[in-house]
Amino acid sequence: MRKKHGSLSINSDNIFPIIKKWLYSDHDIFIREVVSNACDAVTKLRKLSLIGEYEETDDIAYRIDVIASPTDKTLTFIDNGIGMTAAEVQEYINQIAFSGASDFLEKYKDKATDDQIIGHFGLGFYSTFMVADKVTINTLSYQEGAEPVFWECDGGTEFTMSNGDRDVHGTEITLYLNEDSYEFANEYRVKEVLNKYCSFMPEEIYFTNADAAKEDTTSEEVETEKEEKPLNDTKPLWTKHPNDCTEEEYKEFYKKVFLDFKEPLFWIHLNMDYPFNLKGILYFPKFNSEYDTLEGTIKLYNNQVFIADNIKEVIPEFLLLLKGVIDCPDLPLNVSRSALQNDGFVKKISDYITKKVADKLSGMFKTERETYESYWDDLSPFIKFGCLKDDKFNDKMTNYILYKNLEGKYLTLEEYLEAGKEQYENTVFYTDNEKVQSQYINMFKEQGIDAVILTHNIDTPFITHQEQKHEGVKFTRIDSDITNTFKEDVSEDELKETTDKLTETFRKALDNETLTVKVEKLKNADISSMITLPEETRRMQEMMKMYSMMGAMDPSMFGAEGQTLVLNANNQLVQFILENPEGDNTNTICEQLYDLALLAHAPLEAEAMTKFIARSNRILNLITQ
Ligand code: ADP
Repeated sequence: MRKKHGSLSINSDNIFPIIKKWLYSDHDIFIREVVSNACDAVTKLRKLSLIGEYEETDDIAYRIDVIASPTDKTLTFIDNGIGMTAAEVQEYINQIAFSGASDFLEKYKDKATDDQIIGHFGLGFYSTFMVADKVTINTLSYQEGAEPVFWECDGGTEFTMSNGDRDVHGTEITLYLNEDSYEFANEYRVKEVLNKYCSFMPEEIYFTNADAAKEDTTSEEVETEKEEKPLNDTKPLWTKHPNDCTEEEYKEFYKKVFLDFKEPLFWIHLNMDYPFNLKGILYFPKFNSEYDTLEGTIKLYNNQVFIADNIKEVIPEFLLLLKGVIDCPDLPLNVSRSALQNDGFVKKISDYITKKVADKLSGMFKTERETYESYWDDLSPFIKFGCLKDDKFNDKMTNYILYKNLEGKYLTLEEYLEAGKEQYENTVFYTDNEKVQSQYINMFKEQGIDAVILTHNIDTPFITHQEQKHEGVKFTRIDSDITNTFKEDVSEDELKETTDKLTETFRKALDNETLTVKVEKLKNADISSMITLPEETRRMQEMMKMYSMMGAMDPSMFGAEGQTLVLNANNQLVQFILENPEGDNTNTICEQLYDLALLAHAPLEAEAMTKFIARSNRILNLITQ
């Protein structure tokens, strides 16, 4: 071939500065683009030979080599795939690829930030100019009688094409790195990027450090054959049929991909061909709810090429708490994220995944309830978050949500309400802090009334959500105004006089004119005093506290409002106060009873705590006198 000069057909004088600038944040992506082109080239040839359109003359092992040379500051990609004829280079590289790249940039250059385009897909071969001053292609087509072609371009709009010297079909692409990108001649950096994007590409990829290789061959030592291993797994587990995968393989894969030393609880293997193609494995990790942050990773692949982690537009938000891989070759990834969000097809994919997860969980509840219960503490934040975020998921899961009761048994809402229908019609009593609320818990236990334990942050919004979904059902914390359940049936009139007297004494002793006091005859005479706070008021206060933490409200706007000091007329100490309103120790007893009630409700403020301790010591001293 005569040496040919040409000009890339574009309007802009020089597209490369735009490429460089535009893709600045995700420099390393060019490796993915070039290696996946190489994979395609090899896969195509493999297919041709499978269908008998091509016969390999030598026994050839298909592979891709990535060779970095720190001395020459080059990075070379070699594949022994289909290669290109001169006409193909002209068509695919000079015309199509280039117009592809310029179209792409034209379309998106005004559209705000880089990350709006999923993984910058579609820029392909020309993304190499982000890091290279000059790129050469040396290629030989597999076709009979094809001539090798050498193509060279220095980052301007000019290129040259001449005879190449490649003698095996395939393509060799060399990047002469620019000064800012020498890192891509570094072994560790290149391997890091290969691991990120190419770990599961379908053809074997090998890395060589050209400098180290040179040293090896010049050394006098006898060379021992090193067993070469590709750095990728060409048949990742998700591409296999679920029936062909063992439990060990699933666990191994999980460890390797997510570097999590804890074993996953269980997993779901997604395997769908119709109406769209989707494969993947979703793992339910051990959440360790108290300390772990709820954050998972869902890796998205397109035909075994890594795209990105946690793409919210494709994967329902609550599933991002899981760990997993999803490979969906049909996804339109060269569009912006907002377009993806409104894409009906993407919505179907996301609905399918949600349905699969709900089916797996409900199936487990129905056939292996014991196992399901043993996982519940780990699963619960995930499922609750899913119910809050996704109505369809909520509807599917609603009968399979469990509540742990005071005995540590797991009950569905229906089971809990059925068991207590005589005592607490449609009310779910709950504790959100077993330590602080232990006095109330004991009262419940003594009366044989059940309550459930809801201690996770997510439970606050979750119970409100459940109340909306189950008409008539009310969640009531066990220290809310629940004395009804525990008092003797005495009319208010009967206690009116006592209440007035005790209110006066306590208000005086505590120097608090607004204190609300209620007197009841509680069945358990040992209980002297307790604080109750209506459920609604408490929830409102908690919400306000949250806002004030976010700086939206002054914390002094809420205090002890709504609290009632409940005194037990059956208790000896209360009776003592009633009979001795002016007694020497009455004030001290009032203060102490009030603090004890507060303590059983919530931790005391620092100053109140100091006073409480000092007073307790004084009281103890009285005993010794
Ligand atoms: P895309 O991969 O999205 O088609 P690219 O710009 O990456 O766009 O590549 C353009 C075309 O150049 C490819 O479709 C392919 O036909 C050809 N090509 C690129 N790299 C190779 C290669 N290593 N071997 C054979 N053909 C290649």
